[in-house]
Amino acid sequence: MKERGILIVVSGFSGAGKGTIMKELLNRYDNYALSVSATTRNPREGEADGREYFFKTVPEFEKMIAKEELIEYARYVNNYYGTPRAYVEEKLSEGRDVILEIEIQGALKVKEKFPETVLLFVMPPSAKVLKERLIGRGTETEDVILSRMKRAGEEAEGMDRYDYLVINDELSACVEEVHQIIRSEHKKSFRNRELIEKIREELIELNR
Ligand code: ADP
Ligand code: 5GP
Repeated sequence: MKERGILIVVSGFSGAGKGTIMKELLNRYDNYALSVSATTRNPREGEADGREYFFKTVPEFEKMIAKEELIEYARYVNNYYGTPRAYVEEKLSEGRDVILEIEIQGALKVKEKFPETVLLFVMPPSAKVLKERLIGRGTETEDVILSRMKRAGEEAEGMDRYDYLVINDELSACVEEVHQIIRSEHKKSFRNRELIEKIREELIELNR
């Protein structure tokens, strides 16, 4: 039987580069599966339903909540965002490492439900660079950028609840760092109980 995959949550201030890092990580390695969230926010230019998000109306989203189809959900700057359960379960049992790119309230809920989850926080090199990236992306109005910067200030309060912090300065190096963190997580002893049992039994057998 294939080893079950690891659940990884990636959070970080809007504009820190989470989406860019995930795209590159999935390009380079094939052991990852990226969960596609449901949201009530409007699609940005270039976003497709079912690829970046499942775009839902508020009543549709609330129906998903009622039917317990979401592992977690949260409100972020006036919209709902949530993680559909079925895909995550399926990929983990296939042995893929599943990545959720979600904000902090959702991240903490996932960690509470599944304590073996790895929480990873992506930081920009500085607050100034963050604002420049948000402006440079050109997908939000000035108002939305201001509320996202404000939200970043609130999210910074919860950063120490994360297992790892990575700084997204040079993209390629950051992607490699994320990959190495996940590889090391696979080596943790609590994730390798079967291996421990096996060698213990072999030793008992040989020492008889
Ligand atoms: P997030 O998903 O965290 O909101 P994005 O991935 O959309 O952030 O990145 C925000 C902007 O910053 C995008 O325009 C992206 O091209 C740019 N960006 C991301 N990573 C880097 C980096 N390492 N160096 C320079 N620009 C970056
Ligand atoms: P954006 O509107 O920029 O795509 O996302 C806004 C925020 O919502 C980001 O911090 C993103 O990580 C978060 N987010 C995306 N999907 C989910 C989700 O399923 N659950 C939660 N809790 N947050 C999400």
